[in-house]
Amino acid sequence: MSAQTTDIAIIGGGLAGLALAHHLHRAGRDFQLFEARPRLGGRIAALEGHDGAPGAVDLGPSWFWPGQPRMAALTRALGLRVFDQYAQGEICLEEADGRILRGAGCASMEGSLRVAGGMVALVRALAATLPAARLHLSAPVAGITQAGALHLATGKTWQVAQIVLALPPRLVAALEITPPLPSAQHAALLAIPTWMAGQAKFAALYPRPFWRDKGLSGDVMSRLGPLAEIHDASGADGTPAALFGFVGIPAPQRAGRAEDLSRLALAQLARLFGPEALTPLGSALQDWAFLPETATQVDLIPPPGHPDYGLPRALSDLWEGRLHLAASETAPEMGGYLEGALAAAEQVARRLGA
Ligand SMILES: Cc1cc2nc3c(=O)[nH]c(=O)nc-3n(C[C@H](O)[C@H](O)[C@H](O)COP(=O)(O)OP(=O)(O)OC[C@H]3O[C@@H](n4cnc5c(N)ncnc54)[C@H](O)[C@@H]3O)c2cc1C
Repeated sequence: MSAQTTDIAIIGGGLAGLALAHHLHRAGRDFQLFEARPRLGGRIAALEGHDGAPGAVDLGPSWFWPGQPRMAALTRALGLRVFDQYAQGEICLEEADGRILRGAGCASMEGSLRVAGGMVALVRALAATLPAARLHLSAPVAGITQAGALHLATGKTWQVAQIVLALPPRLVAALEITPPLPSAQHAALLAIPTWMAGQAKFAALYPRPFWRDKGLSGDVMSRLGPLAEIHDASGADGTPAALFGFVGIPAPQRAGRAEDLSRLALAQLARLFGPEALTPLGSALQDWAFLPETATQVDLIPPPGHPDYGLPRALSDLWEGRLHLAASETAPEMGGYLEGALAAAEQVARRLGA
């Protein structure tokens, strides 16, 4: 059977891949997007609303920040509502010995911006601007060749002129690339940590934001855990009502403990905010460290700080300009963030003349 053809193949349907597809579509270019998961969004995911609590609670990114022009422009262009992270009321510090200190002070994410409906609303709105037939879900790419063949794990093959790798560089290193990239390039891919890939988030949905009634912002730092940092994750106007926390236990010690950790997380929320916390409408623990479409074994140990991201020189002109990297980690600025995903897409769109 002869291979189907396209001019540009985008591998990865996270924010970077979708944003690039948006640029190419507007420029009237021929492209196809291949996404391994049965859904779009990549690291953007949500606990979807339950009866009586419509909406979505972010299990991946929650915020963008003033000074990130691409996120501001895109949310505006797509008609999405942006609102401030809730920051009214007292913050809490939970000590390792169980003492809970309540105090006035700034919520740690005060000034951060959220998208109504969660970041998944951004993914849905962006995808809605694209022809659905060009977005291939459950289509993991297994290998690519310099002669322009793109092999899907499902057995199908596409023949393409340009390939854009809109997936974390460490996952690029795991693809079967023919001929193999020189060892310096392979090493450069492996050296780029996938931002937040080793993290886990716990989120719980409630009928109402009961902590606000008690004068609490929902903002907590804890030395006891299992949640190390907790925030109000409610929608604009408090609906749906939700809390989320980053799990403070390192990934290697979290393996196989999702149920146990969820129970402990609810118990912690009850210690901090009251017994209402024990009966959420729904809850979820999303452990990114164990999802092969995001993390690799090396990502179980997160980098000590925010890495100095960007496209290394060794990876800047692959296959004479026909193979491109577009994940957030390769962005010229704000690498690792949502803004970086948009900047990386913009960088590749420019190289492709779109
Ligand atoms: C818990 C958490 C919290 C975060 N918080 C924030 C925040 O508040 N603000 C912020 O700005 N950023 C935050 N981030 C980072 C943000 O999520 C990322 O910068 C952004 O989503 C990256 O988008 P991307 O498209 O570059 O990569 P990804 O979203 O990782 O997309 C890559 C895509 O490639 C797909 N893929 C993988 N392998 C293959 C294959 N072989 N074939 C086809 N497809 C494949 C994946 O399924 C995925 O959809 C957070 C991340 C996490 C995990």
